[in-house]
Amino acid sequence: MDHSEQQHLVNAPFYAEQAGEVALFEHAFRQRLPVLIKGPTGCGKTRFVEHMAARLGRPLITVSCHDDLSAADLVGRHLIGEQGTVWADGPLARAVRSGAICYLDEVVEARKDTTVVLHPLADDRRVLPIERTGEQLVAPPGFMLVVSYNPGYQNLLKSLKPSTRQRFVALTFGYPAPDVERGIVVAEAGVEPALAERLVTLAQALRRLTDHDLEETVSTRLLVMAARLVASGLPLHVACRSAIVDALTDDFETAAALDEVVVAIL
Ligand code: ADP
Repeated sequence: MDHSEQQHLVNAPFYAEQAGEVALFEHAFRQRLPVLIKGPTGCGKTRFVEHMAARLGRPLITVSCHDDLSAADLVGRHLIGEQGTVWADGPLARAVRSGAICYLDEVVEARKDTTVVLHPLADDRRVLPIERTGEQLVAPPGFMLVVSYNPGYQNLLKSLKPSTRQRFVALTFGYPAPDVERGIVVAEAGVEPALAERLVTLAQALRRLTDHDLEETVSTRLLVMAARLVASGLPLHVACRSAIVDALTDDFETAAALDEVVVAIL
């Protein structure tokens, strides 16, 4: 590692690795391959991309995709200003022009026409055609396309088309192993390891519950939130009820069942 790489690492936000994903991402970057990250919400996908961007010394442009997100939102549009019509780059065009990492979070939420603009960028061509201006932006080596989605609460209509997904190197994330997750809770919430240990044990028990109508189970993010509330002075049970139980469900009976696990474990 040379001096500038070391400096980048020092500035990178904390990220605890799960299973070789750092090296994989670096190789993908060097090979100019786009990356697709799959995993449940709150398991570290965004933090990983932030960490990697800093580590590689690339600016990061993040777009949270939603069902109204159109191709023009990503690529850009003409705006009417005082001097007449001017072209305004969208975040994807800005990332291509500046050689940044463009991260499209929850990409399956976006409208279908948006994934089509990704295709020529995500294969060997690495170009972004901007129809409205007639430009063809060629991505510099520093540009990288990263997308993520959560396969858990996804219906068939919302999965990525094979023609899209086969352009990406895929990384599958799960919740971190217990020792890694303990380290994350300690680092992110500034709590004692003993408290982190209890919260991770609780998480494992809650993740084993399958007979309740939960869309998602407790994530690392929720554990960090609970730990932060405790660090700030709230009793453990109160913190867990707000940051974990009530965050996971609106259903009274399910909440009561989760609460039972909290009381039994803590
Ligand atoms: P996702 O993008 O998968 O929904 P995030 O990356 O936003 O999840 O993670 C949520 C929070 O959980 C982060 O802000 C961080 O506090 C913590 N976290 C989860 N995984 C890690 C990890 N591997 N290293 C460091 N922090 C993590």
